Amino acid sequence: MPRILLAMSLVATLHAQSLPLVIAHRGASGYLPEHTLPAKALAHALGADFLEQDLVLTRDNVPVVLHDIHIDTISDVARRHPDRHRSDGRFYAIDFTLEELKQLRLSERFVAKTGRAVFPHRFPVGSGEFRIVTLEEELTFIQGLNHSTSRTAGVYPELKQPAWHRAQGRDLAAVVLPVLEKFGYGDSSAPCYLQCFEYREVQRIRRDLGWKGRMILLIEADSKGEDGTDYDAVCRPEGLKELARWVNGIGPSLSRVLSWSPAGGVKASPLTSDAHAAGLLVHPYTVRRDELPKGCGSLDALHQALFQEARVDGVFTDFPDLTRAWLQQHR
Ligand code: CA
Repeated sequence: MPRILLAMSLVATLHAQSLPLVIAHRGASGYLPEHTLPAKALAHALGADFLEQDLVLTRDNVPVVLHDIHIDTISDVARRHPDRHRSDGRFYAIDFTLEELKQLRLSERFVAKTGRAVFPHRFPVGSGEFRIVTLEEELTFIQGLNHSTSRTAGVYPELKQPAWHRAQGRDLAAVVLPVLEKFGYGDSSAPCYLQCFEYREVQRIRRDLGWKGRMILLIEADSKGEDGTDYDAVCRPEGLKELARWVNGIGPSLSRVLSWSPAGGVKASPLTSDAHAAGLLVHPYTVRRDELPKGCGSLDALHQALFQEARVDGVFTDFPDLTRAWLQQHR
């Protein structure tokens, strides 16, 4: 069967058989500091279908689970190593060895200048005992939970800023892919979606690095990515058809899928149906109870718009229990 038909039948099968996917964004990050093992354990326990990992490299080339190349808004690095920032004042994971990163205490996300919580109603900033984990540690942890609960949660690793890593002399994908393969995530039947914002990198991973697993191109709200990806072009029907040669789906910003009028009315953009027509899955980001899109009145309205208006195939959510509960109630 031609690849595109195969992909389309896969989409149809997924629609027919199962509810949209609940992807725990950085773990159950609405309740516990992002990308800590407790946040992943909670997301697993709350029934998330997939648990997300964002990945950057340490100075000694170990992939660790962190949302940003910077570590000054989620750890005590500035207090422990006041002199180790770069000229922009930021502290970078890649300037520290794994051993050094392991000494840091992770925190709920805060504003570096003020120390104030980004989300005031979440886990208290600076409270608790949380540590940075490597990709291997996290995969071992999740597979352990899959075993002990007899329920498999998939993984959803993101390669963070490969072009930036390359400018530092590093090849992030070349380090991460063998780890995913070692843990059994290297083929298209494995419960894993590899995600990235950079189109050229996605093509390189498929063509040059021979990655056989599922892949998602993330799509920003902005027209162009830092690496030059032209997201507006990708989102046109012909762009989506070409993209389907490389990936299984897209991970667009919410604003590319839905828009709210000032009066509160919601409209789905053609992106989801165009992507489905090209055989692509659609997993937008991010559902947050405490940061709803402009004009959206409630979490319930957001869930309804995503799943009943746009008809997406899954969603990144900071609150996997609330998204899952909505889907169970409206099945
Ligand atoms: Ca991510």
